Amino acid sequence: MTQVILPGQTIGVLGSGQLGRMLTLAARRMGYRVHTFSPDQDTPTGQIADVEIAAPYDDLDAIRAFARHVDVVTFEFENVPVEAAAAAAEIVPVRPSGRALHITQQRVREKAFLSARGFPVVPFATVRTKDTIDAALALVGAPAIVKTAAFGYDGKGQQRVASAQDAERAWQQFGEQEIVIERLVDLRLELSVVAARGMDGDIAHFGTLENSHRHHILDLTVAPAQVDAAVSSEAVRLTRAILMELDYVGVLCVEFFLTRRGTLLVNELAPRPHNSGHYSIDACITSQFEQQVRAVCGLPLGSTAQLRPAAMANLLGVLWMDGEPDWTAALKSSDVKLHLYGKTAARPRRKMGHLTALAESADLARSSVLAARAALTRRT
Ligand code: ADP
Ligand code: MG
Repeated sequence: MTQVILPGQTIGVLGSGQLGRMLTLAARRMGYRVHTFSPDQDTPTGQIADVEIAAPYDDLDAIRAFARHVDVVTFEFENVPVEAAAAAAEIVPVRPSGRALHITQQRVREKAFLSARGFPVVPFATVRTKDTIDAALALVGAPAIVKTAAFGYDGKGQQRVASAQDAERAWQQFGEQEIVIERLVDLRLELSVVAARGMDGDIAHFGTLENSHRHHILDLTVAPAQVDAAVSSEAVRLTRAILMELDYVGVLCVEFFLTRRGTLLVNELAPRPHNSGHYSIDACITSQFEQQVRAVCGLPLGSTAQLRPAAMANLLGVLWMDGEPDWTAALKSSDVKLHLYGKTAARPRRKMGHLTALAESADLARSSVLAARAALTRRT
């Protein structure tokens, strides 16, 4: 097995959403070929890739056939079954590893991994059977948040609960599957660190990013975060330690909660480029997607230096509800960049694209990107 994958060779991507699309754009710019695998067709990634394979993730023969035509396999979302990653790994390197995927794709495993190694996490209890709900909620304290252990993203599979009855209802609603009950954190703000570790063990990070969510979905990222240097350096220190503990190769995002009392807690890990790192496409020497290409191909990591303060605002499908957004109006501000993911069906909570604004300061970038997004739907 060759360890370094060079331009001209082929990267296989499991998954076909916008993260795969932006990864593919970066890879093709550098001269790589890209094949994508997912159950769907005409996907955000497939529209850009050289080859788009449509088959279920549990069709392991199809996964092996896919792996035979590529030189390395990566994934762009963490709900790919570990069996698929293992089948691909029989044939080519899979980076990040199946172990990292296994740990980070399930909340209970992820939290157990983090807390066993002394990383600060939100107080939680695991529930597998109905009769343990009362005790779990008593341990954590109400109000709390119930989260499914597997397959959650963008707030899907989450429910705020005030009582044991609420928690029981949520448990039933989520199909009586394993759940986590988590203490509701009194948030000052949310931060993330996107970082990469290369095959040589080198680590590069994009600093601390400040994230605002609406209805549990990322809405806005400001880069760099406007927080104390001590908080930033602690978040980066924890991220480095997590990369090392996972013996990780590739880009990883650590989402943090900063409590009102000033405590930093790890919320969750994403074993791939992350929505909060999208600003890096326009604002940094190396984007998080180019960094992922470099890391999984065994190349040296690029500089993450940020050229200008930036802010990124997500464009959800709800913006399409009264017709096509007014792109001309948003782009009147010449420092605003538009990214659309090639999705046709605009469901209200679906991520359709994003805007990034660059400015003299983070505050100006924030107001500029929010003004541009507001202009999209301001009807005259
Ligand atoms: P997802 O996988 O959907 O991103 P998260 O666990 O990151 O799930 O939750 C999404 C968002 O919901 C968080 O970024 C935060 O805004 C809010 N949230 C989740 N858990 C808590 C909590 N324990 N306390 C306060 N807010 C929370
Ligand atoms: Mg999250």
